[in-house]
Amino acid sequence: MEQLEQAIQEIKTALPGLRLMENEPLANHCSFRIGGPGRALAVPEDITSLTRICYLLKKHELAPFILGNGTNLLFPDEGLNDLFLISTEKLQKLFLLPDGAIYAESGVSLSRLASFAQQNELEGLEFASGIPGSVGGGLMMNAGAYGGELKDVVESVVIYFLPEQALYELTAEQCAFAYRSSYFQTHPGCVIVSAVFRPKKGDGAAIAAKMRELNQKRREKQPLDLPSAGSAFKRPKDGYAAALIDQAGLKGYSVGGAQVSEKHAGFVVNTGGATSHDVYDLMIHIRRRVYETSGVQLEPEMIILAPDYKLEDHGPQVPLHRIYGAGLMEEE
Ligand SMILES: Cc1cc2nc3c(=O)[nH]c(=O)nc-3n(C[C@H](O)[C@H](O)[C@H](O)COP(=O)(O)OP(=O)(O)OC[C@H]3O[C@@H](n4cnc5c(N)ncnc54)[C@H](O)[C@@H]3O)c2cc1C
Repeated sequence: MEQLEQAIQEIKTALPGLRLMENEPLANHCSFRIGGPGRALAVPEDITSLTRICYLLKKHELAPFILGNGTNLLFPDEGLNDLFLISTEKLQKLFLLPDGAIYAESGVSLSRLASFAQQNELEGLEFASGIPGSVGGGLMMNAGAYGGELKDVVESVVIYFLPEQALYELTAEQCAFAYRSSYFQTHPGCVIVSAVFRPKKGDGAAIAAKMRELNQKRREKQPLDLPSAGSAFKRPKDGYAAALIDQAGLKGYSVGGAQVSEKHAGFVVNTGGATSHDVYDLMIHIRRRVYETSGVQLEPEMIILAPDYKLEDHGPQVPLHRIYGAGLMEEE
């Protein structure tokens, strides 16, 4: 705690123009609208400021929690007093590279990325247009929908690797993408900075039509009018979480303000005033009932932050291409 307070003071001195929110309600920064105060939430203007904050935190043996669009998170009611959060919302660079690939910084929303691809007649990102996350959060989760996943279109990812204070470029293969999982999930300490996507050349009108069709499906099937974190559970090996939850008779079941959506049983929604404990208790109940009725153990898809959440430092386990070293930071 003392380390964090010292780091906050140092960061304020080193980056006087930084937008730094203290004791900020985290409910304001996630789609679930749940969560107590976060001790410190910084919104760096660019990649350089982000890496400087990381460097100053590392000096105090602290690692930040990186916040994308907050659409796959459950923050605790108790708040997070021992974590420094960094939002990527200002990392918004998005452009075509000379060879026709797309460069996107991690704060770019997936819907903006998909629209940009469509405008440039590039096909393969239509599935992402209705996913409310950012490029960083999307790559962390290998977000996907309607048969598409980010892994199908990403070519490379640049990360700032906290333990070494260095930038690395990973190929798509090194990112070890799998269903709602990635290298970044199993190796804490990876801050996703930007990525290159290589969708195929396509027909702009057909791409736009596909995006409209998928978004219409989403509006018909999903409870988009209520706060949630998307699918509460991952798809089990054989079958669908929503179908199993429905079969267990849980559609509409609620604990406090948290409810299994009546529209789509795969979503836990906040019907008003839900606490994180309502959500935990409801998810525990769902898991127990689904196991009793089908024998399937559901695994949560959303990232659940407990009040004592800590990031561990792990070294990279695959050879990485180092493109920018810590030395540059130390010379400042
Ligand atoms: C209504 C609704 C519909 C949804 N539909 C879908 C869907 O169809 N398919 C799907 O896959 N998901 C879906 N989701 C879930 C969510 O949008 C995705 O998982 C999305 O990729 C999360 O991105 P985010 O920016 O919101 O990440 P956040 O929720 O902010 O963070 C998620 C995780 O990623 C980490 N993270 C975020 N940015 C970075 C970064 N730059 N570097 C390192 N780590 C980072 C965070 O620390 C956290 O661990 C839905 C959610 C909602 C609310």
